[in-house]
Amino acid sequence: MAKDYDAPPGVFDLLPSDPKEPWRSSYLWSHSESIMRNVAKNFGFAEIRTPIFEKTELFSRSVGEETDIVSKEMYSFVDRGGRNLSLRPEGTAPVIRAVVEHHLQHAEPLQKLFYIGPMFRYERMQAGRYRQFHQFGAEALGVRSPEQDVEMIDMAMTLFASLGLKNLSLQISSLGGKKTREAFREALKNHLKGSFDALSETSRRRFETNPLRILDSKDPQDQLALKGCPSILDLLEDDSKEHFIRVQELLNKLQIPYTINKNIVRGLDYYNDTVFEIISGELGSQNSVGGGGRYDTMIEELGGKSSPAIGFAAGIERIFQVLISQNSTLPKAPAPLLYLIPLGERAKLECFELMAFLRKQSLPVDMDLSSKKLGKAMQRANQINASFVAVVGDQELETGKIALKEMETGKGAEVPLKSLPRILEILSKQKETETIIEELLRPFDTAEEAKFFINKIGGSVEETTHLIESLKKAVAQMKEIS
Ligand code: AMP
Repeated sequence: MAKDYDAPPGVFDLLPSDPKEPWRSSYLWSHSESIMRNVAKNFGFAEIRTPIFEKTELFSRSVGEETDIVSKEMYSFVDRGGRNLSLRPEGTAPVIRAVVEHHLQHAEPLQKLFYIGPMFRYERMQAGRYRQFHQFGAEALGVRSPEQDVEMIDMAMTLFASLGLKNLSLQISSLGGKKTREAFREALKNHLKGSFDALSETSRRRFETNPLRILDSKDPQDQLALKGCPSILDLLEDDSKEHFIRVQELLNKLQIPYTINKNIVRGLDYYNDTVFEIISGELGSQNSVGGGGRYDTMIEELGGKSSPAIGFAAGIERIFQVLISQNSTLPKAPAPLLYLIPLGERAKLECFELMAFLRKQSLPVDMDLSSKKLGKAMQRANQINASFVAVVGDQELETGKIALKEMETGKGAEVPLKSLPRILEILSKQKETETIIEELLRPFDTAEEAKFFINKIGGSVEETTHLIESLKKAVAQMKEIS
């Protein structure tokens, strides 16, 4: 196809496997999304899915007219009905819009919601920055306590750890209340006034519109001008100061390491008090894998009942890129347990029927439908990473036995066709069963724990011992079979 139809810059396809860019393999995504959903579930968050586009006004109201996102990065358009719409550049405003629109807080003021999905920003192209990128995000509404902030941070850190990320650093700060931010804005402008002409063009523009964002700048000239600038943390009011101290105490309690970075401002206007960012040493300038903060005024601003809230968002592409740069083992894409190679028309029909039957037992089975030569069919089995292969010809049909060959070891075993479903089922569960049994055989820490377990499986000590013995035998047998 002509180059003209290639995907536009800044977007990408997820392919079943992408050896050049392994983070774009679709299985890595679906596998990781299920881990994220699981972490969210363990922390008591329920999923919310909002539309890809919203009224433009939603973002200008909540994210802020002066932010880069709203002023330069939105994909905005007028639809055929004359409405001003935008592809969502972030997830918080749509979630709050949905909560307000569906009166979720009337029934239950405490709402813990998470989302996974694409966001759209017309950003300058560079490594780690895309125009369609994906975020996992979470919002907890209704509680203004430091515990709520630390629960959110703990979930973020658990999420990254569950996905296999290492060596991340958590940075926290506080933006205080409105008064603090106003006072800080003035103090910062006063500090920078003298070196205004030396500031980068972007920072000169931000000086009037959004001076706090100058703290974000990586420009060396800006950094020089910022040297010795006042700290927002010195301007916190008592309430915010106490809140921030308590957040630190709770992080210590949960043994979550952090550093205080008074320069965290976050790109969006709506934050107050606790803000945080999670940074990876492995990524270049785009080194943030996620961040969040408290936004206690946004819900009211969007027409809802006044309610405190805190949110967090992580960039999924960045998570995968860190994983890869840390040489982590990526999850293997699922492959057929058995690949059937029929020789001849009769065998093809029999295999076709057998495959349909096995699939109905939820077993991942595939076969050669194209009557390839044996060598080519074996190649295919290899290519799709089948665990076992069985060549079925007239002789196999006569004797009712087939030879199961394990691809990795080349070892084989003759198996009666009749027993195939049961054997495959055992083979498919082997790993899982082994982990369950290992878990069962782990010594308990206390007698109470052991008693609880025995009661739970509804037996006496003798029955439980018997059960465990049979499980041990089953594992030994399974090992023999494979
Ligand atoms: P933000 O909504 O700007 O706070 O971003 C939260 C996270 O989303 C960041 O830490 C990044 O990991 C990710 N992110 C933001 N913008 C992009 C982008 N253009 N491309 C890829 N990831 C992004």
